[in-house]
Amino acid sequence: MRHALPAALLLALAACSRNKPQVVTPVRVDTARVVVEPSNSSNVRSYLTVNDDPFHRIDHMDWPGPNRFRAADGEPGPDYWQQRADYSITATLDTTARSIAGAVTIKYVNNSPDTLRFVSLQVDQNLYKPGSKGSVINPADSRWGARNFQGGYVIDKLTVDGKSARSRVDDTMMRVDLDKPIAPRGGTATIAMSFSFRVPDHGSDRMGRDSTLYEIAQWFPRMAVYDDVRGWNTDPYLGQGEFYLEYGDYEFAVTVPAGYLVAASGLLQNASEVLTATQRERLAKAASSTSVVAIVTATEVAPKPVAGTKTWKFRAQNVHDVAWAAAPDFRWDAVSTGPIAGNEKGVLCQAYYVWPRAGRGWEDGAENTQWTIRTYSSLFYPFPYPQATSVAGPVGGMEYPMFVMVHTAAESQGAFGTIDHEHGHEWYPMTVGSNERRYAWMDEGFNTYINAFSNELRTPKTSAWPAMFANWKTIQGQGVSVPLMTPPDRIDRTALGAVGYRKPAVVLLTLRNHVVGRDMFDRAFREYTRRWAFKHPTPADFFRTVENVTGTDLSWYWRAFFYTNDVLDLGVDGVTNATTDGQIVASIAVRRHTSIPFPIIMRLRLADGSMQEVTIPVEIWNSNQRVTAEVPVRSNVIGVRLWPDGTVPDWNDSNDAWGNAPAADAPALVTTGGLNTSVPRK
Ligand SMILES: [Zn+2]
Repeated sequence: MRHALPAALLLALAACSRNKPQVVTPVRVDTARVVVEPSNSSNVRSYLTVNDDPFHRIDHMDWPGPNRFRAADGEPGPDYWQQRADYSITATLDTTARSIAGAVTIKYVNNSPDTLRFVSLQVDQNLYKPGSKGSVINPADSRWGARNFQGGYVIDKLTVDGKSARSRVDDTMMRVDLDKPIAPRGGTATIAMSFSFRVPDHGSDRMGRDSTLYEIAQWFPRMAVYDDVRGWNTDPYLGQGEFYLEYGDYEFAVTVPAGYLVAASGLLQNASEVLTATQRERLAKAASSTSVVAIVTATEVAPKPVAGTKTWKFRAQNVHDVAWAAAPDFRWDAVSTGPIAGNEKGVLCQAYYVWPRAGRGWEDGAENTQWTIRTYSSLFYPFPYPQATSVAGPVGGMEYPMFVMVHTAAESQGAFGTIDHEHGHEWYPMTVGSNERRYAWMDEGFNTYINAFSNELRTPKTSAWPAMFANWKTIQGQGVSVPLMTPPDRIDRTALGAVGYRKPAVVLLTLRNHVVGRDMFDRAFREYTRRWAFKHPTPADFFRTVENVTGTDLSWYWRAFFYTNDVLDLGVDGVTNATTDGQIVASIAVRRHTSIPFPIIMRLRLADGSMQEVTIPVEIWNSNQRVTAEVPVRSNVIGVRLWPDGTVPDWNDSNDAWGNAPAADAPALVTTGGLNTSVPRK
């Protein structure tokens, strides 16, 4: 979902070319072991294990051991399994009662090696029941609050394999007891029920209503994930944490007042029953046009009451959820991506926006969607679905398979940013189905990381880096920073944008640009995406894939930036120059002020006016807190600058310069060097 930066977004900055750094060896190490001190920011909430060796291996400590399900190299193991849930849903929108009533039939397949004697479902609408956990935890008028709306599910006619069944509802989770257990490795059960609920006006910024426009999500009971890591994943829906659901195929039919248009996940199955001949003709044209075609024009939207109802039928395959929107006054534009990686026919990109309430920027909505789908398909992994829909409405920004909601008022450039972000989620977590309710960084963090590439391509010479790092600094300074591994519902509301989105993006960019190298990280990130597409990866699967593909032990990195909230602070202590046998050697002392090690990257200014770049590998910080690099130079070193390219997240810049220090470059484009597009994406 969307999380806007509080301040100005992007600074126009030019990239700089630099000399190839010189790796120096040997480096003299001060033998005195210095006690690791916490960072110098006194109000930082302490999660430090300051006496631990920062290189201590965490793969056995905090990661599940590799096994037949999840292999040591980060791939799904030979016995990897996941459950499957296919849905058939019918629902009717009553615009007078502002309610939804429907029925769902779920064909559930138990591919696990376990016998299941009960199953768990998510019943998210119960967030709006008076006294729900979410309504108690979130202030009523907050983004995730229930606004004192009284709703929630009415569920009845529950059956399993056609026989009436018992259930127990606990807040937003529902447990169904099974008279007949579901056998392991392929046993099935058919679970059916009817449901109804009143549509909340403010659906915790994930769904809702604005006048006659309805944005409908989390609208039917959905299977919780049963996996090899935790069994049933029964974390409740509190509002701030997102979703974790099983893949399957969906057939759904929604009945709305005649005169309404419905936008939805999946492909429309009965165009001849709900669209006019002209609309069908325009849609067919759009499917093969890379220029936008208006399906419903500005002059055609004047909503007039039409008697009766119409039923719109959709089908979505290999997805873990579906959502939809309906309004009588949508403008509707569509355009094809044209042939893209992995899809010769192209993807149909659509924008639906209430007119004239939507900002004019929405007239670019279909093109923005097309640009986004093309870009991420070429950079990371082919978009796996036949269509991508953007809907303008009251929700600030929220993603579902093939379908995203973006705020009505978003202006042209702003709409691009949010449309780009929400559709970025079609890769993470729609295609790569991680557990968003526990790991925001695998959802919003990965997405913010790929958005940095998209933004720099869309608006050349702008860098996302300064604003992202500044946001991390802000919440660290406010004392609300927590480690990335913290589940999103336990992250302070004011820190979610930094901890869930921008810190993980900065951390991944730093790993790519300064630790393992751009080419190797791009290979690893694509390999992770390929390996775990339509599966359920855990953090360890990502960490192991990156280590395996890049050939680098990164325990120290995961530990520093994912498992603690300590910050990086290296500083230059001092420099002495000495001449031995005609060779000048500069001794440059560097101190590590926090628990976090990092490769030392320096630019030296020499007395003869020249510059010299030096890199020392991270292993130099084994068992010490202060090192002295002995660097052969042409003339005396008169100034030192740590992090000359300006994109290393060092907390304290007052000790990054010594003497007549060379200037740092303006923060470089984070995509400097670009992505190596010759690396296979699928
Ligand atoms: Zn998001």
